[in-house]
Amino acid sequence: MTDIHIHIQPWDQIKPHVLQALTRDHKDHYEFLVELMSDPSMLIAHLDQSRIWRAGLINYPSPDVMGFTDKTNEFAANYASHNRRRLIPFGGIHPRFTDDPAAHVDGLIKMGIACLKIHPPHMWFAANAYTDGLDALAGIYRHAEDRGLPVMIHTGTSVFPAARCKYGRPMEIDDVAVDFPDLRIIMAHGGRPLWMDEAFFVLRRHKNVWLELSGIPPKKLLDYFPRVTELGDRVLWGTDWPSPGVRDLRANLDQFLSLPLPDEWKHGVTVANCLELFPELD
Ligand SMILES: [Zn+2]
Repeated sequence: MTDIHIHIQPWDQIKPHVLQALTRDHKDHYEFLVELMSDPSMLIAHLDQSRIWRAGLINYPSPDVMGFTDKTNEFAANYASHNRRRLIPFGGIHPRFTDDPAAHVDGLIKMGIACLKIHPPHMWFAANAYTDGLDALAGIYRHAEDRGLPVMIHTGTSVFPAARCKYGRPMEIDDVAVDFPDLRIIMAHGGRPLWMDEAFFVLRRHKNVWLELSGIPPKKLLDYFPRVTELGDRVLWGTDWPSPGVRDLRANLDQFLSLPLPDEWKHGVTVANCLELFPELD
């Protein structure tokens, strides 16, 4: 099983009030999380205990909202290098702080980054802002498309202070999928909790867009996306752990597995679909 969306991040860079919001539901194991953020062997042990084979380590620069700088990419690559078969490092490029997106994308690939993360509410632009003058963003998408590097885009709201939630609309991904038809786009969170209809429209329209389920309480998945199985093999499992409200990796997975949906489809979501996008390394 793969949980493609967990937050293993350099907490030494995070803004104090963001850390407070992030850990509000984890007070009883706060020290454990602090240690785990700098010790990959603790994460591997935790994954073993949770019977999860692989995890995607979400990282992206967001100096204004979260406090993370470009160094977050090296952090992700280094952390994952402890066990690259099981840890999948995500990195990011902030289009407002780069004048050479192609070189920047190549640099991340060389570092070992397996997927880009774009977080519009935490970076303060819309996912299609290149249609409105943010040229570097088109450069990032275009080069990722050329290099076969998938891109995950956050959709939906964000609880963190200073996040600008208006940039979380899934409809902005429609442009990206049209303009970069060979780019593999992972839509994180399905626009929750406000824009599921838009999200489903975009997902059905574009075969190069995947739905990633993190942040959606599993018990609510079928209320949010009653026709989710129509997306076939373009759905990926993720939890967003240890975000607020997500206390336990395995508990969320078990809730998902107990939903009244075909076992084969659930197997695809938790195991097979992710292997297609991120083949296991030897
Ligand atoms: Zn997340």
